[in-house]
Formats: sequence, structure tokens, C-alpha cells
Amino acid sequence: MADVIIPSRILMGPGPSNIHSRVLQAMALPTLGHMDPLYFKLMDQLAANLKTIFRTSAPLTLTLPVTGMGAMEACLVNLLEPGDEALFCVAGFFANRMPEIAKRLGVKVHVLETPWGGNTAPEKLAAALKANKIKLVGLVHGETSTGVVQTNLPEIAKLCHDNGALLLVDTVASLGGVDFETEKWDIDAVYTGSQKCLSAPPGISPLTFGPRAEDALKKRKTPCASWYMDLGLIRKYWDETRAYHHTGPIHLTYALLEAVKLMNEEGHEARLARHAKAAKALQAGFEAMGLKLFVEDPKNRLATVTTVCIPDGCDDKKVRKALIDRHSLEVGGGIGQLAGKTWRVGLMGEGARANHVLILLSALGGILKAEGHKVHAGAGVEAAAAVLLT
Ligand SMILES: *Cc1c(COP(=O)(O)O)cnc(C)c1O
Repeated sequence: MADVIIPSRILMGPGPSNIHSRVLQAMALPTLGHMDPLYFKLMDQLAANLKTIFRTSAPLTLTLPVTGMGAMEACLVNLLEPGDEALFCVAGFFANRMPEIAKRLGVKVHVLETPWGGNTAPEKLAAALKANKIKLVGLVHGETSTGVVQTNLPEIAKLCHDNGALLLVDTVASLGGVDFETEKWDIDAVYTGSQKCLSAPPGISPLTFGPRAEDALKKRKTPCASWYMDLGLIRKYWDETRAYHHTGPIHLTYALLEAVKLMNEEGHEARLARHAKAAKALQAGFEAMGLKLFVEDPKNRLATVTTVCIPDGCDDKKVRKALIDRHSLEVGGGIGQLAGKTWRVGLMGEGARANHVLILLSALGGILKAEGHKVHAGAGVEAAAAVLLT
């Protein structure tokens, strides 16, 4: 079998995103031992930079050697124990994984469902909280399956706290691309992934626990059901105890540290503005082309993942294959109940730039036109270009 030659892809799916050369180079640095004082220094620098990105001062801020799903599981297994009741706000594929995990932990699970394309209404959450004795509410900030951003998070956090519940938020597809304020919005536990808006390689996931979540850890009656994920043990590797728990993912640590340094060099406001503008241009382009966006209400649209409806009679897989084969460009297909109905276009981290927007609109326009669909390919590029020039 011939060896695979790895090409340069334009990554415009819902992650992974393209990685800056400084981050790629960081991975090629010499290996340090995981108990080397220099490596501890890097861990400290990483935690400090992550606090800036999470917008928090919470001491329990660290990374786990897992992808986003591992971080989701780690948060749930640390904050919940058998017999607890948890409520999950489900409006998409990723939020639906939280109750799946919690059920395996012996937790009494409640689900507040919202049709895909919408986001959880605080009034409905308030009613569900009143009706049950909930320890933790879990929801997703940027739902990658639908392209919806959950608004009203400060209000939702207050509702949770007024009812004695913790709020856990998944920001795997949003942190670093969309406005999110851990401390100001009073969110108790937050996790993210590395390969989406942080533009680092997959396999190292940041999380942060605030004072209420720390308190919940202290008040556990049973040990954390996962030894490997036990934050009580893991934090002793990150604090001055420096107790060996697992071998830190050395090269991923170098990479993520470089990625978060780049983010902090760019600055919070500039980064959010860049993502917002790229998404606005892409969405204007799709509409000018004659394609329909899946999320109707513009204020619910997630800047980092745009869901666009596949035109009637269009062969989803054929179009995505043509994008890869002709332009080395990846977009995501629909997932769950939206499989075959939408494309998911990511503008995340390094990828949230004018060149990505324009190349996708022109490439997709050309392919759809060649397939006999009535799209105004040029109008899409022009509309996007006009937004990008503002
Ligand atoms: C991608 C994603 C995850 C899962 O992350 P993995 O890195 O694939 O494990 C979880 N939640 C959301 C919202 C995501 O977009």
C-alpha cells in the first residue's frame, strides 16, 4: 500500500481548525520529562494564560490529556455522584451526550428538550428547576450540531444558583471565538477543547471550576467514580505538591501554550471581532448566493459554526468530496437529525479569516453551479467581500 502524503487542507469543518506555524513548531521542541521543574513552569504559564481566556481567576484551572468529550465526562464524574439529580438542557447532538454520560454514573437524569435550531428558554428552565431537587444543570454554549449559540447565560446562571444548582457549560466550540465570561456570568464549571477555536492539536482539554464547584468536590460523600479523571488527585500534579498522577502530554502542552499565547497577543476584543466579522461575511455570502441558513434568528447564530441548508436535490457527499478533491477544503456534514440536510462550516481560531470565507464561497458556488443548481455564485463572493471591507 502506498504511503499517504499528507496535504495542506483548508479546515472549515466544525473542528479541527488550521494550526498556526508557531504552534506546529512548538510541537517539534525537545521532550522534557513530566516531572522536570521546567515543565512545571510551562504548566504554570499554561494555567495563567488559560485563566485569561476563560476570563476567570479560579485557582482550579488546568488541562486534562483528553479531547472535549473527555473533559465533558471529567466534569460530570467529578461534580456528580450516585443518587444526585441533574438537569440537562438539550437542543442538539452534543448536549445530548451529557445525560448519556450522567446515566452511567447512577445519576437521576432530567432532560429539558428544545427543538434543534432554538436555544433553551430561561422560563422553561425555571419551571424545571422548581419541580425537582437539581444539583447540577448542564448545557452547551455553542451547539456545533445546529450552529446555535445559547444566549442568556448570566440569567440562566442566576436561576441555577437561586435554586441551589451548579451550572456546567460546554464551550468546546465557542471559547476563544464567541463572547464568554466565566466569572462575570458566574458560571461554576466550564470546559473546552483544544482543536476548535484555540487552534491547537486535539488531545488536551482545559477546564475551570469556580468556588461553588470546588465546594461540591469537597462535599462529595463517595470518591470520584473515575480514578484517572479525579480532579482532587490531578490538581496535586498542578499545584505546589507536584505529585505524579499521569505523564503530562508534553508536546501538546508546548503546542497549547503557544496557541494561548498567540490568542492573548491578539487580545480578547480583537479576536471576537475577527470571528464575528468572518461569520457575518460568510452568512451574508450564503444568503446572497441563494442558500438558506438553518438558524433563522440572527442573534442565535453561532459565529464559529454556520449551518447552511443543503439545496433540494443536491448530493451532500458528492459536493463535500468535490470540495476536498478540487480545493483541499473540508466542511462538515450535518450530524444527528440534520445529517444530509445541512453543511456545517467552521470559522474557528486561525481559520476565522477573510481568505477562508472567500475561497469557500467561490469554490462551493462553482461546484453547485456545475451540478446544475441555481445559485448566484458571484453574488455570494461580492456580498461577503463587502462585509469584509467594513
Ligand atoms: C466537538 C465538540 C465536543 C467534543 O469534542 P471532541 O474533541 O470531539 O471530543 C463536545 N462539545 C461540543 C459543543 C463540540 O463541538
